[in-house]
Amino acid sequence: MNAPILVINCGSSSLKYALIPAVSGQPRLSGIAERLGSDRAILRLRNLQGEKTTIELPGASHGDALKVILDNLGSCRPIAIGHRVVHGGERFTQATLIDQDVVQDIRETTTLAPLHNPANLEGIAATQELFPGLPQVAVFDTAFHQTLPAYAYRYAIPAELYERHGIRRYGFHGSSHAYVAERLSILSAQGRGGWIIAHLGNGASATAIWQGQSIDTSMGMTPLEGLVMGTRSGDIDPGILLHLMHQCGWSSHDIDQLLNHRSGLLGLSGLTNDMRELEQSAAEGHAGAKLAIDVFCYRLAKSIAGLSCALPMLHGLAFTGGIGENSPLIRARTLTYLTHLGVHLSPNSNGELSHGMEGRIDVGRGLELWVIPTDEEGYIAVQTRHLLDNMSDTPASCHPQEVPA
Ligand code: AMP
Repeated sequence: MNAPILVINCGSSSLKYALIPAVSGQPRLSGIAERLGSDRAILRLRNLQGEKTTIELPGASHGDALKVILDNLGSCRPIAIGHRVVHGGERFTQATLIDQDVVQDIRETTTLAPLHNPANLEGIAATQELFPGLPQVAVFDTAFHQTLPAYAYRYAIPAELYERHGIRRYGFHGSSHAYVAERLSILSAQGRGGWIIAHLGNGASATAIWQGQSIDTSMGMTPLEGLVMGTRSGDIDPGILLHLMHQCGWSSHDIDQLLNHRSGLLGLSGLTNDMRELEQSAAEGHAGAKLAIDVFCYRLAKSIAGLSCALPMLHGLAFTGGIGENSPLIRARTLTYLTHLGVHLSPNSNGELSHGMEGRIDVGRGLELWVIPTDEEGYIAVQTRHLLDNMSDTPASCHPQEVPA
C-alpha cells in the first residue's frame, strides 16, 4: 500500500481505525476495538480482501489495542496519522499538526466535550508513543462549522455566558458534511450552490451549505441539540429539565442519562435505537415503532425547512449516514413534508439506492435529491495529506494524491 494515512477515531471505550491508501478507491485495512478497559474488550479487524477476524483483548486499553492493530498492519506502514477530534472550540478552524501546545489546547476544550475529547487525547498519547516522529494531525468535527454567522451560533442567553464560558453553538459531524458537500460540488451541475445535508446515523444532524461553507447546522454546543437520534432526544423544551429537577427530584446524572442514553428512537419506541429493527417492527404493527419513525421524519423535515432560511437559494438535499444511505422509507417519509420546497421524489430511484450507492432520487425537476455515502475517514486522510503537503519540509512521498473519487 503506497504512502497510507492511518486514521484513528477514539471513543471513551472504543477505537476505530482505517489505513487509507494514497490513491482513492483502493481497498483499506480497517477495524474497531470495543469495550476497551473491560474484561470483554475485543478487536474486529478487516483485511484488504474484506475478510474479518475477531481478537479478544480482555482488559485492553486504547494503547494495548493500538499495539495489536500495529502488529496487524504487516508491511503497510503509515506515513502520518490523522485523528478525529470531536471538539475544537473556537480555537481550531482547520486541521492542525499536533504538538504539545495543540494537545494542551485540546485539553482546555475538554470542558466543552467532557465525554469525547479525553478519549481523543488518549488516542493521541498512545499513537505518539507507538509512532514517535510520525506527523500526527487533528481533524476537528467542529472546524467545518466555524463559518456560521453569529446570529446562527449564539444562544439567546446573557452574552457573558458566551464571552466567559464559550457557550454557543458549534455543530458536529463536520468531516461528514464537508465530504458530502465536496461530492455534491463535483456531481451536481449546481456545483457549490445551496444545499442541505442530512447526516442520519445513530447520531444525526442537518447542515445548510452555501458555496461549500457551513452556514447553519442542527447540533449545538454539544451533539445533543437538534434532530431525534438513536438514544438522544435532540431539541427539547428546557423547562422540562427544570420540571424534572424541581418537581421530581432528578439529579444532573439522571438528566444526562435520560437525554443522552434513554431518549430518541429508543425512548419513543420503548424498543430499540436501531432503525432497521424499528422499520421491521412498524411493518408488523408495533405502535411505538411507528410513532418513533413518524417523529424522526417529521422533526427532520421541520429542521430542513428551518435550515432553508439560512440559504439565499436552495438547490437540493442530500442524505447520508447509516439511515440516510440505506433507508428509502425514511427518505420518502421525510420528503412528504417538504413538497412546498419543490420536492419531487422518484420512488423507483429512491427504492434502488442503498448499501453504499451514490445517486439522485428526484424525477429531474424541482430540488435535486441525492444519496451520498459518507467517508469521514477518507476526508480526515485527505485533510492530513493536504496539511503535510503545505509544510515546507514534507518528503515527496507525503504529497496528497487522493482526491475523493
Ligand atoms: P451509523 O451510525 O451511520 O452507522 O448508522 C446506524 C443506523 O443506520 C442504525 O439505526 C441502523 O439501523 C441504520 N441502518 C443501517 N442500515 C439500514 C437499513 N438498511 N435500513 C434502515 N436503517 C438502516
